Amino acid sequence: MASPSGIDSKTPLQLVPGIGAQKASLLERLGLRRAIDLLFFFPRTYQDVQPWNTTLELTENTRACVLGTVIDMDSRFGFDGRSSVGVLLEIEGGGYLRCVWYNQPFRREQFSIGRRVLATGVIKSSGVASQMRHPEVLLLAEGEEPPPAKPIPIYPLTEGLQQRNVVQSIAAVMPLIEHVEEALPLEVRERAAQKLASMLSASKASISNQSASPTSEPSWVGLPLFDGDVATTAPPKLLSIHDALRMIHQPETMVEAHDARLRFIFQELFVLQLALAMHRYQTQYSKPAPNIPSNAMVHARILKRFPFDLTSDQTLAIEDIRRDMAREIPMNRLIQGDVGTGKTALAQYAMLSAVANHYQAAMMVPTELLARQHHRKLCEQLKNSKVMIELLVGSISGKDKRELLQRIAIGTVDIVVGTQALISEHVEFAKLGLLVIDEQHRFGVEQRASLRKSRTVPHYLVMTATPIPRTLAMTVFGDLDVSILRQRPPGQSVVQTYVSEPAQQERWWKFVLEQVHSGRQAFVVAPRVEATGDEDAAGESVGAIQQWEILSQGPLAGLRVGLVHGRMDGDEKQQKIDDFVSGKIQVLVATTVIEVGIDVPNASVMTILDADRLGLAQLHQLRGRVGRGRFPGYVCLFPRADIGSEELERLKLFASNHDGFALAELDLKLRGPGELLGTRQTGLPTLRIADLSRDSEILQLARSMACEIIATDPLLNLPEHAKLRRQVVAKHGATLEISDVG
Ligand code: ADP
Ligand code: MG
Repeated sequence: MASPSGIDSKTPLQLVPGIGAQKASLLERLGLRRAIDLLFFFPRTYQDVQPWNTTLELTENTRACVLGTVIDMDSRFGFDGRSSVGVLLEIEGGGYLRCVWYNQPFRREQFSIGRRVLATGVIKSSGVASQMRHPEVLLLAEGEEPPPAKPIPIYPLTEGLQQRNVVQSIAAVMPLIEHVEEALPLEVRERAAQKLASMLSASKASISNQSASPTSEPSWVGLPLFDGDVATTAPPKLLSIHDALRMIHQPETMVEAHDARLRFIFQELFVLQLALAMHRYQTQYSKPAPNIPSNAMVHARILKRFPFDLTSDQTLAIEDIRRDMAREIPMNRLIQGDVGTGKTALAQYAMLSAVANHYQAAMMVPTELLARQHHRKLCEQLKNSKVMIELLVGSISGKDKRELLQRIAIGTVDIVVGTQALISEHVEFAKLGLLVIDEQHRFGVEQRASLRKSRTVPHYLVMTATPIPRTLAMTVFGDLDVSILRQRPPGQSVVQTYVSEPAQQERWWKFVLEQVHSGRQAFVVAPRVEATGDEDAAGESVGAIQQWEILSQGPLAGLRVGLVHGRMDGDEKQQKIDDFVSGKIQVLVATTVIEVGIDVPNASVMTILDADRLGLAQLHQLRGRVGRGRFPGYVCLFPRADIGSEELERLKLFASNHDGFALAELDLKLRGPGELLGTRQTGLPTLRIADLSRDSEILQLARSMACEIIATDPLLNLPEHAKLRRQVVAKHGATLEISDVG
């Protein structure tokens, strides 16, 4: 449908009147090609223009809006042929401002002495009076009051493109607004606004409860949606798409800008949550899962196998699992728990429940090493029982493997622990009732999908030790239910963590030496395999290989120092790790390959080189490798030599903080979601306006409303949801395999 200006949403930007080829090519660098792209290209923040008629406290190089009266004018011609027009304003609050235009002689005619003018622009100081070049001006008629000051949108830019260009280009596509389809039903908008209002008054109440002095009225706490956001007293609104588009680009007030952003942030998160809820519905109800009830006797028998009493968090999580597995709907549960919180016990519980009900269970872990470890422990725990436990990893091949696969297929194996070999090869289970996946965040979404494609639909239990901030979990794993282990089993001590200055390093190595001489073992972690000069960040980085040479000849000479890194082949890696586990190697120099799950109770010290290269969540993972046995753990971070002070603060914060969740939240704020989950994580949707760490309350609301809608209309087939469905499919259909055919 064409708008009055003759453009439609698909019109290429160079054909939009008022944009032109040159600006269009600059805009294309921002990914903007069609008219509609530009309409949905949002300001990243706004400049709040303060009332103008204050005394002249104008700061150089900042934007300002000034109300004054013309008291003088001049026009000049320079030798270079340049003309300039100057207009001197007497500011109403006091002071003077000179406005100047080059090569715009017509400006001379716009002004007359005594005329009131509103000028907006960047202040360039110049002698006695401040100066603005090429300000925007609003001429007031006799007796006319100036309009209220408007916020100035600030867009992301690219080289050669100016704010003014973007503002003008957007103005050129504004006529399209009336043709944009409203995807959010009115009822959804109204309910969301109501709920936001009650959320906000709840947080207001909780603040006033905490307030020490009852006389000081707490300020209204709004949702801050951008830098320098307003504290608004108005209840939140969810604007219509048309108002929202107008107000996000051309707000009259900061409140309008705020409301417009709120609408789009909500929409983005709501559509995402609808996609996840739909996906979850599709996976849960397409095929039934086995019914695995756990009666009191089985329950007691399994618990007896544990050499300890469960923590209350473990007990709660087991209740969740029991409830899930007793239904015919496949369980889709994520267990989040810091290193050492005892997730393995939950996996064992679930697997034994399956076996007690004559189903098979499988446990998939990211590395062969971890698979062997889990397998060994499980065998120890279940010795003298009839449960058949087997190991399936890549290095098992030939006849052994054929036999194993056969026994799995006929059902004489009860529990299989393995790596990806479990899904990437033709493993057929006689009666698979449960699949446990350890360290889920290492598996891409694709692998999750391929598992779901298998013939059988087992219950599905996922465990991760990377504490994922709630908001991120709701986004990446939004189709899973979550149980959290926060408590640690008794008897675990926290790992002492230090950040070392270069001058202290010698002393630290002496300490490592002492630890090893007293019978302990040590890790030395270097993020890179080889030393490199670094182009992107500051500082040389040390490599594991070089470090191994240096340490074994220098500070740790005389100890048995081994090396393991990601470039070694599987057998070689395995051998080194086995040697470390058995104590043949005393100090293991390693890359972050050891991050996931290695359990060597005798290891008590870890040195992390170039620690500032790593995220806090990752450092926390590494830290969890020591202090696992009877011996207290110690970790020392060696940052790169030219580390900045903020970076150093981050590391110090890590040293003093042992709550993995808090660290992960911090990582999310400081480094963004991509860093937190690792660059290879594919499951992370790109968000244009919402921010998972800032907008967590809106995310929660979007999630609960999306779940309600999907509960009544699982595939969004009702006519009133047709437009929503289109949005969901357009934005997330491909990643979540949500097709357009209802
Ligand atoms: P995670 O996999 O969550 O990092 P693990 O399951 O490996 O942690 O447990 C860490 C250690 O704590 C193991 O040695 C385990 O035996 C022990 N453990 C687990 N639960 C308890 C408990 N409730 N009481 C005492 N020790 C426990
Ligand atoms: Mg574990």
